[in-house]
Amino acid sequence: MNEDCIFCRIVKGETDTKIIKESERLIVFKDISPQAPIHLLIVAKKHIQDITRIDEETWNEIKDVATGIAKARSIPGFRLVHNAGDASLVKHIHVHFLGEVSGERKL
Ligand code: AMP
Ligand code: ZN
Repeated sequence: MNEDCIFCRIVKGETDTKIIKESERLIVFKDISPQAPIHLLIVAKKHIQDITRIDEETWNEIKDVATGIAKARSIPGFRLVHNAGDASLVKHIHVHFLGEVSGERKL
């Protein structure tokens, strides 16, 4: 737990963020500034910085939760985005789940 970390505060239930899904090591909630019709954040309960520090179990669980969301909501295509190090704004590991995105993109 990092007192200054917004995602740690969400994990602790200190905000009014609606938790959409919870698993052993993760929570899922909507991104506050959506960049796609469906934009969820899959967030570790533990304060881990990013993919360079993550354990295999948590990383595998991210895969399971992401594919589980797509299956449960019948989302035919989705993107997963992870920003690490200086590329991230919140230094608490999360993966962006972006659904209903167009296939006509450069990246
Ligand atoms: P990044 O670390 O670059 O992957 O970006 C952090 C993401 O977290 C951004 O897309 C923000 O909109 C999102 N975010 C920051 N604070 C909150 C919050 N309190 N609730 C939901 N999403 C948030
Ligand atoms: Zn944190």
